[in-house]
Amino acid sequence: MTALDPHGLQFDHLNCFYVEGTWIPSSTPDTLPVVNPADESVVAHIARGSAEDVDRAVAAARTAFASWSLSSVESRIQVLDTVHRLLLERKDALAQAISLEMGAAITFARTMQVPLAAEHVRVARDVLAEYQFQTLEAGTVIQREAIGVCGLITPWNWPLYQITAKVASALAAGCTIVLKPSELAPLSALLFAQLLHDAGLPAGVFNLVNGTGTEVGAAMAAHSDIDMISITGSNRAGAAVAKAAAETVKRVTLELGGKSPNILLPDADFAKAVPQGVLSAFRNVGQSCSAPTRMIVPRNRLAEVESLAVEAVNALVVGDPRLDSTVLGPLANQAQYSRVQSMIAAGIEEGAKLVCGGLGRVEGFLTGYYTKPTVFSEVGPGMRIAQEEIFGPVLCIIPYDDIDAAVSIANDTLYGLGAHIQGRDLERVRAVATRIRAGQVHLNYPAWNPHAPFGGYKRSGNGREYGVYGMEEYLETKAIIGPS
Ligand code: NAD
Repeated sequence: MTALDPHGLQFDHLNCFYVEGTWIPSSTPDTLPVVNPADESVVAHIARGSAEDVDRAVAAARTAFASWSLSSVESRIQVLDTVHRLLLERKDALAQAISLEMGAAITFARTMQVPLAAEHVRVARDVLAEYQFQTLEAGTVIQREAIGVCGLITPWNWPLYQITAKVASALAAGCTIVLKPSELAPLSALLFAQLLHDAGLPAGVFNLVNGTGTEVGAAMAAHSDIDMISITGSNRAGAAVAKAAAETVKRVTLELGGKSPNILLPDADFAKAVPQGVLSAFRNVGQSCSAPTRMIVPRNRLAEVESLAVEAVNALVVGDPRLDSTVLGPLANQAQYSRVQSMIAAGIEEGAKLVCGGLGRVEGFLTGYYTKPTVFSEVGPGMRIAQEEIFGPVLCIIPYDDIDAAVSIANDTLYGLGAHIQGRDLERVRAVATRIRAGQVHLNYPAWNPHAPFGGYKRSGNGREYGVYGMEEYLETKAIIGPS
């Protein structure tokens, strides 16, 4: 047993991978450090897998596919029900692991990161219960079948949530799995693997190999016995996976970056829309792929928006993620801290107006990746801070002169993941929504809907996750044509 922090969080299997229903040692003695972003200390070392470890996991998944793909819907529902129950029962340990590995404020981890991860499992279970795997269309039997062995690669920002979005849908579809979690946030994934084991998932259906993207991830992408790869991560990694997967013609789904706009129409309730926009942009310390980080506002309301935004930022408690009162903890890792600092510097150099925040650590912190929540105004649509994904607490306020200009600024991006529109005249709000090139458009900050398909236009990726669309990504379509 290895004690990881003062909360007494313990992991038995740091040096192992979960393969064929058991914890097995890595094929190499190499390890990777896990760093607590709150104080930059190394809290654990995990095994660093190799292509050989991937081979073992894929072989287990291939063997298990024969029976799991033909298992009854009832038995899969039962497993998903148990997984959902265990996620809620083990919420505290999972939240602590997430907070430790990527710095999420503990309250946020408990109330958002873990419960929303559990929601993906509940929704996959409900989708499965209703789904028609066989239909009759124009005299032909259309059968939907599990695609096969799936390689799932996930990032560190919502570590458990990104895992369950993929794993729950793949399990519901009847697929078997090799998961490679982010090497920067692997602790919650280890707890999740044990949880699946405890839920009674048959051996080989789910397998986990830790390691880097360029070793384990690349070996999965190129593997000749993996039928599908689904990756959530950066555009760089997504493109590398797509290239590596091309030789074996496997299905590839990519959930990549974003630079989501938030258009405030002139009739929006600014006193509500601005602070809520700030909160949405800075949720999870801005480390969400669909965070609305470009607030597009009428030019004649700029001063009002700036002052409302500063007020909202000043109300955010930034600090030690272990404290219940903390809203924003540190950024998740050193690379992310450096990236965000360099983008704040770019905004200043390009002449955007720094309204609050700026360079350097939050006052009072000498260690830890604590970044000042930062707002820029008078941002030009062509500036780097308006075009590049920052993935941190940096909001760009961009003025527009008329609605056509607002739409064109919103669409002036390589990305197309999320978008927000605020306004009282719902007909106009909806009309603007139809003109936005993005996979999800949110009108007046609706509640999160775990059934709504999630995914990107343009360089934000392809494919959709969540709900029925999410499960269908893991299915093949067979037409059975013949005498009736
Ligand atoms: P990342 O691309 O560095 O890593 C993501 C995963 O891909 C990790 O497991 C990593 O090991 C693996 N990987 C890296 N290079 C690889 C390669 N060559 N081959 C195979 N696997 C490889 O991303 P990150 O820093 O962990 O996450 C941040 C990025 O993820 C941001 O760009 C963000 O927008 C994106 N993201 C997208 C979504 C979405 O649903 N669209 C959700 C969350 C995060």
